[in-house]
Amino acid sequence: MEKTWKPRTTLVHAGTRRSQYGEMSEAVFLTQGFVYPTAEAAAERFIESGPDEFIYARYGNPTVAMFEERIAALEGAEDAFATASGMAAVNGALFSQLKAGDHIVSARALFGSCLYIVETLLPRFGVEVTFVDGADRAQWQAAIREDTKLVFLESLSNPTLELVDIRAVADLAHSKSAQVVVDNVFATPIFQRSLDLSADVVIYSATKHIDGQGRCLGGVVLGTRDFIRGTLEPYLKHTGGALSPFNAWVMLKGLETLDLRCRAQAASALHVAQGLEGHPALTKVIFPGLASHPQHALAVAQMDAGGTVVAIDLAGGQEAAFKVLNALEIILISNNLGDAKSIATHPATTTHQRLSDADRAHLGIGPGLIRLSIGLEDAGDLLADLIQALEAV
Ligand SMILES: *Cc1c(COP(=O)(O)O)cnc(C)c1O
Repeated sequence: MEKTWKPRTTLVHAGTRRSQYGEMSEAVFLTQGFVYPTAEAAAERFIESGPDEFIYARYGNPTVAMFEERIAALEGAEDAFATASGMAAVNGALFSQLKAGDHIVSARALFGSCLYIVETLLPRFGVEVTFVDGADRAQWQAAIREDTKLVFLESLSNPTLELVDIRAVADLAHSKSAQVVVDNVFATPIFQRSLDLSADVVIYSATKHIDGQGRCLGGVVLGTRDFIRGTLEPYLKHTGGALSPFNAWVMLKGLETLDLRCRAQAASALHVAQGLEGHPALTKVIFPGLASHPQHALAVAQMDAGGTVVAIDLAGGQEAAFKVLNALEIILISNNLGDAKSIATHPATTTHQRLSDADRAHLGIGPGLIRLSIGLEDAGDLLADLIQALEAV
């Protein structure tokens, strides 16, 4: 029955477990443990637990399970494991399946903490990493070897909104039996169905669009039942990256409105990008939904909309960027994204401060670049706020 549901129906109903009270809104099972009617029942549950049988909240919890089942149904994944944050999800998806001597290929343009795991932590444990420019298929082809275990990528990338052709990379990876692990945060589960594009494992920071109202940290890994239960769960349940039941409940309620919010935010992002394109203070407006985006055709093929993030590059560099940020009246200076509140970030001095000048330049993160996460405010108000702020320069 659930298989035929459209995303909006899935997001409201899938995975619901009602208690004996028949509550309307999903219950928060704020419990660390569970009691067993008999010693025999306890012993049995430790041998094999059924879908409504729990042992300990680090392993699983009914509210967390509702969140996992709902997002798995949306994504079309066999199974999902929820985590305390997006980074716990990335850590779990990579460390649970890698060992010393393995080789992986990763796109270079990664969220800062993802880069830390791939560039610093994995090599410390003997994993060899080859970095490529994600948009360049030839580099993927040259880098993926017979012994490559997995490829890791974000499509769209942060903050310059580059796309990776997931199907093309997956074809290359699968020809060498390598897994494709996609951090799908920027593209959102609403606009990019990475599993349909042949990815094997999909990761979200639920902190972003899934909560969408700046309240909680959370994350989730989606994939085959074999991978989630056989490889990922043992790693995560014993290393402690479990999602809090309260946060799971916030995320579960966030899912109910995810489709509506993402679509409204993406429509406003397009409005803002179109309204700013050609502004004399800007050298560039980067948004995959604009025909001027160098990968617009791929964006149209791979995504249902351009996403909810727009990047603008100020001709006047950091000084101009700071003036604009300080002149904004509605859009807030922060570093989250996917929130109901629109947010402006200066990557070069905040999220990407740690990178060398050369690496920043290579990734196209100049001193004038501002990342805009477009929220749920009126699109006209947001554009007007940006235009008045641009007058500061
Ligand atoms: C935010 C983010 C993460 C990490 O998520 P947290 O919930 O902050 O741990 C990972 N990848 C991408 C692309 C992100 O935007």
